[in-house]
Amino acid sequence: MERKNAWKTYGDDDLNALELLAKRYRGFLDAGKTERECVREAVRLARARGFEDMRAAKTAGPGDRFYLNWMGKAMLLFVVGRAPLTEGMNIVGAHIDSPRMDVKQNPLYEDGDLAYLDTHYYGGIKKYQWVTLPLALHGVVAKKDGTLIDIVIGEDADDPVVGVSDLLIHLAGEQMAKKASVVIEGEQLNVIVGGRPLVSDDDDEDEKKPVKAAILRILKEKYDFEEEDFLSAEIEVVPAGRARDFGLDRSMIIGYGHDDRVCAYAELEAVFDLPEVPEHTCVCLLSDKEEIGSVGATGMQARYFENAVAELMALTGDYSELKLRRALAASRMLSCDVSAAFDPNFPSGFEKKNAAFLGRGVCFNKFTGSRGKAGSNDANAEFIGRLRRVMDDNGVSFQTAELGKVDVGGGGTIAYICALYGMEVIDSGVAVLSMHAPWEIINKADLYEAVKAYRAFLVDCD
Ligand code: MN
Ligand code: MN
Repeated sequence: MERKNAWKTYGDDDLNALELLAKRYRGFLDAGKTERECVREAVRLARARGFEDMRAAKTAGPGDRFYLNWMGKAMLLFVVGRAPLTEGMNIVGAHIDSPRMDVKQNPLYEDGDLAYLDTHYYGGIKKYQWVTLPLALHGVVAKKDGTLIDIVIGEDADDPVVGVSDLLIHLAGEQMAKKASVVIEGEQLNVIVGGRPLVSDDDDEDEKKPVKAAILRILKEKYDFEEEDFLSAEIEVVPAGRARDFGLDRSMIIGYGHDDRVCAYAELEAVFDLPEVPEHTCVCLLSDKEEIGSVGATGMQARYFENAVAELMALTGDYSELKLRRALAASRMLSCDVSAAFDPNFPSGFEKKNAAFLGRGVCFNKFTGSRGKAGSNDANAEFIGRLRRVMDDNGVSFQTAELGKVDVGGGGTIAYICALYGMEVIDSGVAVLSMHAPWEIINKADLYEAVKAYRAFLVDCD
């Protein structure tokens, strides 16, 4: 049974709303190229819509809107519903970290009259895709005195960019015969940042490494930090440039970090468009570190979500450990993450009846995983039945998919972690072409349907 392309269902109002949404989303992508930038932008958007810092709240009741910024890299939004929390929350959760290269702790060196930053890649990437591209530096430098310096270099039209070189084709006979996984190796992801020596009279160090010395001088003069400060820095190397319309018909968007900022943004739009007082408490969860296993204090495996629900219960004046567990277990969740779009150029990776197609609407993945569904969440049929009712009642175009052919590969999301509380969870998201490449592609219709789906779920699922 084939699902219909969502574009075929649109009238003029839909098309206008879709274009406005696409424009807002491109703006979000441009403002948020790291998890920190995404949190900052999401907090700004939430505050503009009347959400208040939960840490400053004294009480909570139906209709209240709160945000919680978790270490600047993850966040939660709550819209308190009419029903008690023990009847469960409707939760949409996405991740806001994306594959990239992270600058190492001791990164700066000079070789062949060039200065480099050494990196360690983050998340699953085809390393050969990350060479010969204009790249930007985004991140923070934490100084010993507690000041935090924000770095964004390479996004303004006047900014310089940086990048990784590749061997010229004329000398690449040996390289071209290698397996793609080792054509470019991890330790070759060295980012060129300079090529002009410092000219000075006496300093020994400058004479030995004058290009590096010149870069250090620029870092000091323009950004006010020294080589040692790299020890406490988080600088991410990401593709430079803006998200853009893709295709002559402008039906798609090419951008960095659709995985998973497209679902994160769809969640935000859905939560900003809720009724004054929803029936169930609605939660938008934006987590970090999904691409490396949801680890660390800002990853989904950390307890900040559970702790925040406990805090919310306390604010309503009705907290107990038992009630907290009941609230979590009674909840319903869409684990919002991107899915692989069928690629006609690479059909062998997909089983067409159970693949996601660009433009056919928001995608539900009953399970992800690999080799016998290992590591997947595998949602309950009963829950999917209820979701089908919600989607159909609200006119949402949706499709179902697996991540590729059986035994070809697989992937994970945050679904299995939230399912540990015993709540109903299913993976649901936007299909992506060239997932995890520096520039990924989505279809605007799928973004539009994702916003509709997430809103319908938050308002109408019980
Ligand atoms: Mn993802
Ligand atoms: Mn991913």
